[in-house]
Amino acid sequence: MIIDTHAHIDGADYDEDREAVIERARENGVKYIVNVGCDVESSYRSMELAEQYDFMYATAGVHPHDVKSIDANTYAHLRQLLLHPKVIALGEIGLDFFKNYSPQDVQRAHFRNQIQMAREMNKPIIIHCRDANENTIAILSEFYPKEPNARSGIFHCFSGDQKLADKALEMGFYISFSGSVTFKKADNLRAVAKTIPADRLFAETDCPYLTPVPHRGKRNEPAYVNFTVEKLAEIRGLKIDDVQRTMALNFFELFGIGENASTGTISYKIRNSLYLNLTQRCTADCVFCTRLTKPVVQGYNLALQREPSAQEVWESIDDVKNYAEVVFCGFGEPTLRLDVIKEVARKIKDGGGRVRLNTNGHGNVINKRNILPELSGLIDEISVSLNADTSETYDEICQPLPMLKNGIYEKIKEFIAEAKKYIPEVQATIVTHQKDVDETKCETIVNEKFGVKYRARRYNIVG
Ligand code: SF4
Ligand SMILES: [Zn+2]
Ligand SMILES: [Zn+2]
Repeated sequence: MIIDTHAHIDGADYDEDREAVIERARENGVKYIVNVGCDVESSYRSMELAEQYDFMYATAGVHPHDVKSIDANTYAHLRQLLLHPKVIALGEIGLDFFKNYSPQDVQRAHFRNQIQMAREMNKPIIIHCRDANENTIAILSEFYPKEPNARSGIFHCFSGDQKLADKALEMGFYISFSGSVTFKKADNLRAVAKTIPADRLFAETDCPYLTPVPHRGKRNEPAYVNFTVEKLAEIRGLKIDDVQRTMALNFFELFGIGENASTGTISYKIRNSLYLNLTQRCTADCVFCTRLTKPVVQGYNLALQREPSAQEVWESIDDVKNYAEVVFCGFGEPTLRLDVIKEVARKIKDGGGRVRLNTNGHGNVINKRNILPELSGLIDEISVSLNADTSETYDEICQPLPMLKNGIYEKIKEFIAEAKKYIPEVQATIVTHQKDVDETKCETIVNEKFGVKYRARRYNIVG
């Protein structure tokens, strides 16, 4: 499902062929288009388009370029527009200190006023920010403290740096990339795009502007949004389906449009791999883990009402040969269900598949014996979360069950050393950007002490 979260097809550029442009979007699989207002007139035009086409939605707001023309009636119009069921956000609003078409103090004042209105009406906002990172963050932080359930909005056509992205994410915002992420010289932007968590990512055309490669130079239109999605997938080491799926879920979560991801997922496909979800239980409670609050990965909801049997897990796999690997991994610790792993892994191996196990390394403690000899011949690769360079930091970050504290870290290290004897490929991983963790030391421990592969990943980035 493809979504263009930011288009301006109400504009004069489309007067000759608007209907054809909209039809082309539909033909190219665009499921929703959000047409964004820049002033009162374009907001009304957006609303009319949304009334006319079932798959179009509108926003209403005054762009920083145009805030100088705000008059006594403007806010009453916006309020009226926002009461319309297909007007789903307030925007685009923000600050543009690159063009400075409106004085900066006027921009700041109306940015605040419009945010205020969005908060009162419980609407997400669409933010335009150009050359005004500090001011934008300062104003937003007056309204968007770190409440987990506050309705935030989208940083549209993101062109900022990592610092702006991190701040925006911290305040609960989504980041949307336009065709500029496909441009040849946009390496810095691509580096930022790689770090945005899957559950905060969107794509847009911002048409008629910023046409993605390979149509750069021509007028842009919603049908081209997939070139940007494709580039985002490539940057993030994913398939286009993966990115489309996560964006569809994000769209549902922010606007309530489309479908929620269903729970009870046993097997799920990402890239060319198939993942198996055995349990939501775990012997740790890592500070970054959303296993109980939001067990969603790449658009799949892994919440389980009950744990699947080995038979159910096996039946959820169409054909192991369809995948580069089948991975026991979920929001929970798979070795809590060792018998299921063994039974299903045996069948996968018999069917000619490759098996990986992602684990917190507590398996021998959980099962009160050395389980690695039992996994020999069944598991081709094991990935163990080390996550820290000392036992103290491990306990802080991973919050193991009380009886495991003060010692489980050493057991994980023993598990890794033991794994080397029985599993052809072993890797140890850490989640980056965690307090008090010395990432260089972790890498040294893994390379020098264990001589296994090391991988550092940012949480919620599957890559
Ligand atoms: S070990 Fe994995 S599943 Fe368990 S709490 Fe940590 S991140 Fe979540
Ligand atoms: Zn804009
Ligand atoms: Zn725009």
